[in-house]
Amino acid sequence: ETAVSLSNVRKTYRIGEPVHALDGVSLEVPRGSYTAIMGPSGSGKSTLMNLVGCLDTPTAGEVVVGGRAIGDLGDRERTRLRGTEVGFVFQTFNLMPRLNALENVALPQLFQNVGRAERRERARDLLERVGLADRADHLPNELSGGQRQRVALARALVNDPAIVLADEPSGNLDTDTEADVLDLFDEFHAAGTTMLVVTHERHVAERADRIVHLLDGRIERIEELDGAGSDG
Ligand code: ADP
Ligand code: ADP
Repeated sequence: ETAVSLSNVRKTYRIGEPVHALDGVSLEVPRGSYTAIMGPSGSGKSTLMNLVGCLDTPTAGEVVVGGRAIGDLGDRERTRLRGTEVGFVFQTFNLMPRLNALENVALPQLFQNVGRAERRERARDLLERVGLADRADHLPNELSGGQRQRVALARALVNDPAIVLADEPSGNLDTDTEADVLDLFDEFHAAGTTMLVVTHERHVAERADRIVHLLDGRIERIEELDGAGSDG
């Protein structure tokens, strides 16, 4: 079964000279798989993630997420799909500065039909899983970079999305914190979540089943990794 499928996808930005950020990309992402996306700056990684994350629509071709072709959907439907099917961990965290950790994690549920008490309980549960139960009342600027990253991760997971998208998830993290975040990804992957992770770091990418290498808006090659243990 397919979680995400891209068929001959093009994304062209027209600001002056047209830029083909993606130029004929086809990719099948099986349910429950763990895919890393690598490529130099400007190769189209963020554009790809924004499409799969239902933040944008393709110029041509088709992007299917959770069985829906996102180009056919209105803004409202895409917002809903984003809230339920996809959890997005942004490079810059995008936490709300005036909301504490718990409130930030609870936020995506506002768009669901879930009562306040249940929202808080669920957010607390997620904060616990990322090891931040004791920081629930802290504002983002009272947390370290790694803690903010874990809050962002908890928020991405609070609606139990089928697909988790992470753009440079360990970009600003120290080694220990990075290992914690990657271990969490492994946990969710083991539980059946489809993982799609953009990274510049080879050792981060090697947690995945396969690495998709992008170059100039095209798939240059797909590298299959034999994930079976990797310590064997
Ligand atoms: P990275 O290499 O870490 O992805 P970039 O600087 O390439 O960082 O892109 C950061 C964000 O800025 C991307 O999400 C992209 O959508 C946006 N962006 C990149 N280039 C442009 C541009 N020329 N005009 C407008 N937005 C851009
Ligand atoms: P990457 O994430 O691999 O760095 P991006 O997807 O951010 O690459 O960008 C791919 C290309 O598209 C770059 O040339 C970038 O300048 C351009 N681009 C990205 N987003 C925008 C945007 N919103 N407007 C115009 N150009 C953009």
